[in-house]
Amino acid sequence: MNLILLGPPGAGKGTQAKVLQESRGLKQLSTGDMLRTAIAAGSEIGLKAKVIMDRGDLVSDEVILDVVAERMGKPDIKAGVVFDGFPRTPAQAQALDKMLAARGQKVDAVIEMKVEDEVLISRISGRYTCAKCGKGYHDSFAKPARPGICDACGSTEFTRRADDNEKTVRDRLNVYNKQTAPLVSYYTSRGNLRSVDGMADINHVTDAIGHILDGVQR
Ligand code: AMP
Repeated sequence: MNLILLGPPGAGKGTQAKVLQESRGLKQLSTGDMLRTAIAAGSEIGLKAKVIMDRGDLVSDEVILDVVAERMGKPDIKAGVVFDGFPRTPAQAQALDKMLAARGQKVDAVIEMKVEDEVLISRISGRYTCAKCGKGYHDSFAKPARPGICDACGSTEFTRRADDNEKTVRDRLNVYNKQTAPLVSYYTSRGNLRSVDGMADINHVTDAIGHILDGVQR
């Protein structure tokens, strides 16, 4: 199954993609994570992408499609993919359709995660992750049980994304509304878009997505 989680930054796509990876054996393909890995490695793509990401703009379709095509060539994604943060433009959506068609596959479901802008801003502005195991936290909504110590692995090192500040979040939301939101009608016209309330608590969102996917697989 190939599933797209569509929604603005902070909607919970990454959180739910990780759940689906565990529960359904789908591979999470996060173009944002792939770009951050390229930045950490100091590669040419990473260096160019960093400037664009730090100001909240989109990296070019060409670069993104190269990165995705390379990832799709790896054998571990045979059981299916949950796309997280991709596609983000109509050109990327069309390219994905072609890439999958060439493998005899298609986009099986698109789930839009709806969250109000002000909620997104407060979610993103306070989020951080454990530098060692990647567990996510939030200054107000999800603090570690013991301050400064990761619940999952005991590490005391945490990181914040450079683009998770209020100014950049507002820019990222504008970019989403202009360049990515048109994908709602793109997939609606293909009949495979469903929506969930991304403001519900994490477990409710997981249940709602699971319910939709059970219907798709039958
Ligand atoms: P994310 O982790 O999905 O929030 O992505 C972080 C940043 O990486 C975005 O604000 C963009 O600058 C860049 N990015 C990630 N995925 C894409 C994509 N599919 N197309 C263009 N830029 C992307």
